[in-house]
Amino acid sequence: MAHDGPGSEAEAALDAAFRHARAYLRTLPERRVDAEQSPARLAAILGAALSDDGEPAADVVGRLIAAGEIGVTPMSGPRFFSFVIGGAHPAGIAADWLAATWDQNVGLYGPTPLAATAEVIASRWVLDLLRLPASTAIGFVTGATMANFTGLAAARHALLARHGWDVEAKGLYGAPEIEVVLGADAHSTLFAGLRYLGLGSERVHRVATDANGAMSAQGLAERVASLHGKPILVCAQAGQINTGACDPFGPIADACAAHEAWLHIDGAFGLWAQASDAMRHLTAGVERADSWAVDAHKWLNTPYDCGFAIVRDPAAITGAVSIHASYLQASEEERNPSHFTPELSRRARGFAVYATLAALGRQGVRETVERCCALARRMRDALCAEPGVECLNDVALNQAIFRFGDDDALTQAVADAVTKSGVAYLHTAQWRGRTVMRFSVSNWSTREADIDMTAAAVLRAFRALRR
Ligand SMILES: *Cc1c(COP(=O)(O)O)cnc(C)c1O
Repeated sequence: MAHDGPGSEAEAALDAAFRHARAYLRTLPERRVDAEQSPARLAAILGAALSDDGEPAADVVGRLIAAGEIGVTPMSGPRFFSFVIGGAHPAGIAADWLAATWDQNVGLYGPTPLAATAEVIASRWVLDLLRLPASTAIGFVTGATMANFTGLAAARHALLARHGWDVEAKGLYGAPEIEVVLGADAHSTLFAGLRYLGLGSERVHRVATDANGAMSAQGLAERVASLHGKPILVCAQAGQINTGACDPFGPIADACAAHEAWLHIDGAFGLWAQASDAMRHLTAGVERADSWAVDAHKWLNTPYDCGFAIVRDPAAITGAVSIHASYLQASEEERNPSHFTPELSRRARGFAVYATLAALGRQGVRETVERCCALARRMRDALCAEPGVECLNDVALNQAIFRFGDDDALTQAVADAVTKSGVAYLHTAQWRGRTVMRFSVSNWSTREADIDMTAAAVLRAFRALRR
């Protein structure tokens, strides 16, 4: 297929996608927030056989659009509350189209100066909003899973270097053992990072957490003191996935400093509390850590996939993940993006971050964070006014967990009924051994009317289902 001008097959495919994208986004707030679960129908539209000769691109795109009408969940709309995911802001979507169009392979500064420069500017803005030291390094990774992995890799590098061990060269065989300490309500992806790095997901020290899921500062201090002299990696959390709880970072940082422990923060969404004067008491002291993982595609509302691996000592992140070869001619003066991520070839994520931040502005980011938290409290107030509905967490951030009639099956049935109605998307999880309905507000476009409509649907379902 050649790119041969107006009316060509290539342009017809691009036009079809563009027209559909605009119509989809325009109607997003009114769409049913679910998708038809019919693999057979979807496969019938997509076609099972790969053709020998290929097909016109516009036909292929047309089929995807048709399948999208039944197979795509409007996750980025204002009433998808079941994960903490946000929804892509239009400025970020447009910048992502440019990233796909320009198709830059963002490894080195030389061939991709615009993509590299957008990352440098966006890095500065992110550090400023998150109130982290300006000299800190950021890798633009796929999300908080890889941000955790990268932060932990930097920790492994630095902790073992301090003990005279070059882990990148020698691996972990014969290395001093790293003692990993984390809260009992840490996120599953932290354990994945530990697994990938050979640190093991089970040989960790778990510190007790409170009813809301925040780590006990005293428990942490005692555990770290008992490990004095060993390489210690402490993982704390800003924003527990169910409750939004933030660990007590000040006391945790004190304990880490006293025992030369590396402090890593999983702040996938919760770290954004730093962007608001009204919320940042929740994350007080978080700037004292050595590394941080934070998502862009959740509360910052960029398109997937995008997150930041942030490391105070740039030499620790580059020492852990940079890749070198004679054909990869790195700039000596400018920042080479691939030196800060585990990936070599990747798309230019920095465009969407730059565009989303520039479009929202400092005020817009702050307002998004504060509005989402206020909307979570609005939902709590609306639901808890009903006898039999309980909120199980302290709604300090953007997360709320609810229980109906103190009954697992009823709680599940209420969430299922609302999701089936298409009004809002809700899921359950287990909290302290009980089924709860999760409610996460992180979308830039969610407003009070969305909360009120959802609360009404939830209460309608509860009243119909309770005996
Ligand atoms: C979502 C989340 C992650 C994982 O992030 P991805 O963007 O899905 O890779 C890690 N930690 C916490 C606390 C999260 O909420």
